[in-house]
Amino acid sequence: MSDATKSARSIALTKAWARRRAETAAAKAAGLPTPEPNTKRNKSARSKGNAETTENEISNWEARPTCLCGCGGELVRHKNPIRQKLFIVGHDARLKSTAAKVIRGELPRTAISNTTRELRNRIGFLRTRPELIAAFEIKQGSTQVK
Ligand SMILES: [Zn+2]
Repeated sequence: MSDATKSARSIALTKAWARRRAETAAAKAAGLPTPEPNTKRNKSARSKGNAETTENEISNWEARPTCLCGCGGELVRHKNPIRQKLFIVGHDARLKSTAAKVIRGELPRTAISNTTRELRNRIGFLRTRPELIAAFEIKQGSTQVK
């Protein structure tokens, strides 16, 4: 192993790091966001009834709102959370029917996602159909279905 080989390798490494630093700096200068954490992994790791997880779920949703019916369709993000749309047009009816089925015991409670439960106070149709609220209640520390 000669000194020349060693220094060639270290020069290559130094160059690679310099390139990476330059790319990062360029991204920052351009105002690009830093890469998002893997939210899919967060979802599978979540535990029920955990306040911290709940906050994460809501802020994840607010950062990248998706239709609350559970179809996963992406929504246009609104700066004003009060005016943020919760559903793709017409999909509130899907959630209504899911909620009715959960109440009748035709679907498991898990048919309604945790995020949807957390956001239930924002769902307009629950004011006109209060009998459906029961499908959105959060049972602390219990996953038992009656
Ligand atoms: Zn939907």
